[in-house]
Amino acid sequence: MPIFEYQCNTCSHEFEKLVFASDEPDIACPACDSHDVTKKMSAASFMGPSMGTCAADAPKGFS
Ligand SMILES: [Zn+2]
Repeated sequence: MPIFEYQCNTCSHEFEKLVFASDEPDIACPACDSHDVTKKMSAASFMGPSMGTCAADAPKGFS
């Protein structure tokens, strides 16, 4: 499962997101809702979920 790292160009918030195949949705920063984000290839995503960062942190209930 491809997990990509993104960094927001507006507030510099870094976050991870699961992206399936090349079907990349419109990514928005979970912190400021900006769509001006940069994708970074994450080598860590190939080493398993043992780094402390967690995809369960995905946005599912912003206020
Ligand atoms: Zn942001």
